[in-house]
Amino acid sequence: MGTRGREIVGKSVKKVLKLLGKAYADEWLAYYQYWLGAKLAKGPMKEAVMAELLQHAADELRHADLVSNRIIQLGGTPATSPKDWYELTNCGYDAPVDPNVMKLLEQNIKGEQCAISVYNAMMKETRDDDPVTYNLALQIMTDEVEHEEDLQALQEDIELMVARKK
Ligand code: FE
Ligand code: FE
Ligand code: MG
Repeated sequence: MGTRGREIVGKSVKKVLKLLGKAYADEWLAYYQYWLGAKLAKGPMKEAVMAELLQHAADELRHADLVSNRIIQLGGTPATSPKDWYELTNCGYDAPVDPNVMKLLEQNIKGEQCAISVYNAMMKETRDDDPVTYNLALQIMTDEVEHEEDLQALQEDIELMVARKK
């Protein structure tokens, strides 16, 4: 970005870049967790769960794109190697080793709850001196809140379905 655009962020650039770099790792790991989970899913309402997980995977990849653009604007470099994601991540990676839809939903809900906290913290840190990053964090957090809600709604539907069959 231009020099003035960076200048207004001033002394917080380093701090903001650190937060963005960690969120960037989270987004890639979330993307992969969703993307693979969608392929492996088994159990009640599998089709609906797969569709939702795939949609969320696409959103997480779009978030990685948005975050990387802001990192570059601020003069930083996003993690150049995937092996760095594990060191940088806030929310970690929950491998979809159990393909049960309920387990996948539970893992991804946990991830979304972590993501909501991460962007909420980023908003608090940037509110005063970095309106561009603040706005980005707000946009992404709005998606993460929707993701959590979608997954919890599916969880509820599956619970109701399973209870009815008993
Ligand atoms: Fe995301
Ligand atoms: Fe999400
Ligand atoms: Mg959704």
